[in-house]
Amino acid sequence: MVKRYGQNPLRQRDLSRFVKDLVRRSRSKCELCGCSGEKLSILEIFHDEDMTDANQCIFVCKTCLEQIIYPKKTVASHWRCLNNAIWSEVPAVQVMAARMLKRLARVEHWAGELLEETYFDSEIKEWAALTE
Ligand SMILES: [Zn+2]
Repeated sequence: MVKRYGQNPLRQRDLSRFVKDLVRRSRSKCELCGCSGEKLSILEIFHDEDMTDANQCIFVCKTCLEQIIYPKKTVASHWRCLNNAIWSEVPAVQVMAARMLKRLARVEHWAGELLEETYFDSEIKEWAALTE
């Protein structure tokens, strides 16, 4: 059973179409922290009305999801995993990693450094709102 998260409840039914693709892509691991054996949820990264494939979502574990949704629950040490996730070949994973690093960078020196060291395509920068 996979829970789905998105902005629009109607769209959540749509998102389930991508479960197979996400399972294949992630090899059933959290795409942010890499943990396996956990229940994974679909997190929508790009809110695009014409959503046509799984590239706009990522698969995340409960720990990652909770901290993304509830910033107050953020445990900075958990996000050391972003050292790997930030280099993901999946744009949506890179965007989420960059967004988290941006949030963490306010209090965590290493996060700011990692963000500066990473090369992003201009599209990714825009999606991750790094240019703001
Ligand atoms: Zn995770």
